[in-house]
Amino acid sequence: MTILDDFKIKALNSRFADGDPKSILEHSILNLFKNKIAYVCSFGTESAIILDLISKIDKDIPIIMLNTHFLFKETIKYKNELLKLLGLKNYREVFPDEKMLNKYDVDNSLWKKDVDKCCNLRKVIPLESSLNNFESWISGRKSYHLGDRQNLKAFELINNKIVVNPLFNSTKEFIDNYFLSNNLPRHPLFEKGYLSIGCSHCTVKAKNIMDPRQGRWSDSSKTECGIHLNKREN
Ligand code: SF4
Repeated sequence: MTILDDFKIKALNSRFADGDPKSILEHSILNLFKNKIAYVCSFGTESAIILDLISKIDKDIPIIMLNTHFLFKETIKYKNELLKLLGLKNYREVFPDEKMLNKYDVDNSLWKKDVDKCCNLRKVIPLESSLNNFESWISGRKSYHLGDRQNLKAFELINNKIVVNPLFNSTKEFIDNYFLSNNLPRHPLFEKGYLSIGCSHCTVKAKNIMDPRQGRWSDSSKTECGIHLNKREN
């Protein structure tokens, strides 16, 4: 493993401070983490951009989707459409561990009682196991999504993996223009007012276009599922 140290991460963030997504991805995929990087993709409202960029660099990069069993049917359909359209060859779907579901969420209602525990069971733990053989993973977060994402940088160290954020500095205008100029299809729910899309139980339409993640866990104080957070030391 050649995990970058703080000094190298700082140097990379300085080099890519302007935030050109294509350059960040090319350097990560072809140089820094060759054969040791995956894209963890939600197939949400803006995922098509990174998928399109990856397809132009290397169609064999692993694309990992965390299937919580609670995804919108529109997301599954959109995922199939994008994989086919872009010719991506290395798709992997990761599910929660059945034994753990039977133990901790036998009636599929944990999300009603404890959203943090539910995300941990259905997203954080499955992702951790699926990344065992990777040094790095790509995330689609953007600082314009506000909240904890406002101070995002291109490269971060999270739970001993380098997380690459090619769109960290991208604006809504860049996103909209990219879809148009590359003729990429939008998520079917985007047209209906969903600006950020996760599980169907925890996603509603955003009321404020300037705050795209407002529709996630809207009746709780939760803002992140936890896959982008460092584990707490006990
Ligand atoms: S987003 Fe909601 S349903 Fe999905 S894993 Fe998290 S708490 Fe559970």
